[in-house]
Amino acid sequence: MVRIAGERIADLFALAESESARPHPELANRYVVLARKIGMRYNVRLLPEYRELYCRRCSAFWVEGRNVRTRLRAGVRVRTCLACGRERRTRLHPSRSPATQSLPAGPSPVSRDEASVAEVELDSPEEQDEDEESEEG
Ligand SMILES: [Zn+2]
Repeated sequence: MVRIAGERIADLFALAESESARPHPELANRYVVLARKIGMRYNVRLLPEYRELYCRRCSAFWVEGRNVRTRLRAGVRVRTCLACGRERRTRLHPSRSPATQSLPAGPSPVSRDEASVAEVELDSPEEQDEDEESEEG
């Protein structure tokens, strides 16, 4: 059952991604909500690469340049959800890619392969929102 839930979550994120390219990305957010609910119901943790893709507060499926802003400061990546304003901080692994640290000041500070960056979550302490937060159905 857990394995099926995992596959279903993967499907939903794939759908969300394809839907986010369309004129009505609200459906993408809906898929994120469903995926999170499945994760909660079957106590399946969403993979780190999926957890990067959406807002923990409003479940918006993040599309760079549309509803999320990513900034890098001092080895910390700060992603701000433009839908609800929630910030998500992730510390980037310092030894991972030395090339990005000596980047010339260009217009696009966001590294392309950010999904593969090893990281530590630094969510703000006032809100411990785990994906497993209990939700009675
Ligand atoms: Zn949000």
